[in-house]
Amino acid sequence: MSELIMIKYGELTTKKANRKIFINTLTQNVEKALKGENVQITKDSVRMFIKCQNAKSIASKLQKIFGIHSIVIAYKVNNTINDVLNKALQIMDKNKQTFKVITKRADKNYPVHSMEYSRKLGGLILKNSNFKVDVHNPDITLTVEIRTEGTFIYTNEIKGAGGYPVGVAGKGLLMLSGGIDSPVAGYLTLKRGVNTEALYFESPPHTSLEAKNKVISLTKILNEYSGKIKLHIVPFTKIQEAIFKNCPDIYMITIMRRMMYRIAALYAEKIGAKILINGESIGQVASQTLDSMVCINSVTNMPVIRPVACFDKLEIIDIAKKINTYETSILPYEDCCTIFVPKHPVIKPQLNKCIEYEKNFDYQSLINEAINNIETITNFEENFDDLL
Ligand code: ATP
Ligand code: MG
Repeated sequence: MSELIMIKYGELTTKKANRKIFINTLTQNVEKALKGENVQITKDSVRMFIKCQNAKSIASKLQKIFGIHSIVIAYKVNNTINDVLNKALQIMDKNKQTFKVITKRADKNYPVHSMEYSRKLGGLILKNSNFKVDVHNPDITLTVEIRTEGTFIYTNEIKGAGGYPVGVAGKGLLMLSGGIDSPVAGYLTLKRGVNTEALYFESPPHTSLEAKNKVISLTKILNEYSGKIKLHIVPFTKIQEAIFKNCPDIYMITIMRRMMYRIAALYAEKIGAKILINGESIGQVASQTLDSMVCINSVTNMPVIRPVACFDKLEIIDIAKKINTYETSILPYEDCCTIFVPKHPVIKPQLNKCIEYEKNFDYQSLINEAINNIETITNFEENFDDLL
């Protein structure tokens, strides 16, 4: 294995106390993403090293893993300046003209200081090639890291996904619909290291199998970002029909969302999730005005994280495109929120009215029944490859 990838850890370097957990979790996530590849992974407290054959394709997989600040395809040579020079001349792109050298001396016992080393190596490159020095705006930045086990040199640094390794922040339950917002919300919480599971409310026959498959596909895409998301599917038909039958039109959506929150909070407790996550965005629709949020949120004390609460729709769409969920989200299958939609949903619902209307039916036993009949999908690879 002749190529070497060097991973610089992300924000975790600042979290000294938890460093070990962070690095171990990141290692597990990297191992999982590279399962089946012929690689050899080693790590220390500041870097992870991956020996491999096909560094470019490995690097592109690593770009989706949270907790990585940057990825470099590096070359290890002996600590003699001649070995470093020869490798540098080999890897510097001959189509470019100017360069600068940055030296980092991780081995503080190395006898030459960084600045002096850069000057010396830069001088040797000048003498042995046609490159010119430009310290302000170079075409090539040649980085040299002198470490006890050898010197690593590289010319390009690929930006990593940032954030924390998924799994370091405890568990959260994502309310995942087939829309644009909730997959983005899921991505953003995964990025904070939250070990996420997802909950989808379906109302067959009012919602179709295609709508469910869309959510399965979205979960699969999110799982590329070092997720291990299980998808729990709640049968929601009876509850929606009971709301339709027993509550005034304009309160249907508010009460439906109160039921969703109740189920989500109960189920979160059952699976050990500490928070709920959803794709609500302030003011986007009638059920997301501040008054609506107060009424809906009042059914639970569990913290509800709304990562896109303050984003414009266009900002959310930009992220959805970047993370590859957008094309799936815009497929035209109905969601349970889009059926039974009243013409004029209440914008300023009142809590006492919600409570009064909910007395019209025995929602608690319907909720229990729905929770008891949740279907969980854990294996996305084998069964759901050709869904869409
Ligand atoms: P859109 O991008 O069309 O706004 P959305 O997924 O944000 O889609 P909303 O009606 O705005 O849909 O719902 C707000 C939030 O409520 C969603 O982001 C999601 O977290 C949750 N939600 C809505 N419908 C469902 C559902 N069927 N299953 C699970 N969660 C849902
Ligand atoms: Mg929305």
